Amino acid sequence: MNYANIKYCDIANGPGVRTSLFVSGCTHRCKGCFNSEAWSFTAGEPFTAEVKERVLASCEPDWITGLSLLGGEPMEPENQEALLGLVTAFRERLPQKSIWCYSGYTFEQLIGAEPSRAATPAALRLMERMDVLVDGEFIEDQHDVTLRFRGSLNQRILSLPASLREGKAMYWKDDPMFVHGR
Ligand code: SF4
Repeated sequence: MNYANIKYCDIANGPGVRTSLFVSGCTHRCKGCFNSEAWSFTAGEPFTAEVKERVLASCEPDWITGLSLLGGEPMEPENQEALLGLVTAFRERLPQKSIWCYSGYTFEQLIGAEPSRAATPAALRLMERMDVLVDGEFIEDQHDVTLRFRGSLNQRILSLPASLREGKAMYWKDDPMFVHGR
């Protein structure tokens, strides 16, 4: 896996202060994508063991709330195994902190309820180790700059533990901007 960028002390992609890892590679090609330079799986730099350790170490201070995974597309099958290693190590070292994942795939596509190349055993293991999934492609016509932690109205902020337990999409209830049905 390659990665395009790492933002330390990011306050835009999840609650609190976070480390945000932007992986390379995305097949969605949304119109108006904010990060089209990361569409290629060979963009950026290799995600080496050293980079992985740097990401984990950056999340250790008390004032860091957690880790966010973005792209590109973290849930592309090409990226899942490398991220599974990172997420598993994060869970062991920092079990009290949160992991958010931004994916152009919907929860239904990731669990295989709707057809998708991303519905793999590794995708399930990833979701079991993460807290929140912001799902769905970016739809330019539904772009709204006032939305918190997401780019377009169709995207949902989902609790992964609740969604996996119930077998259907369950909203992240703590989101003060959450409006049921949007
Ligand atoms: S899923 Fe995200 S990175 Fe991929 S094309 Fe859409 S907006 Fe861009």
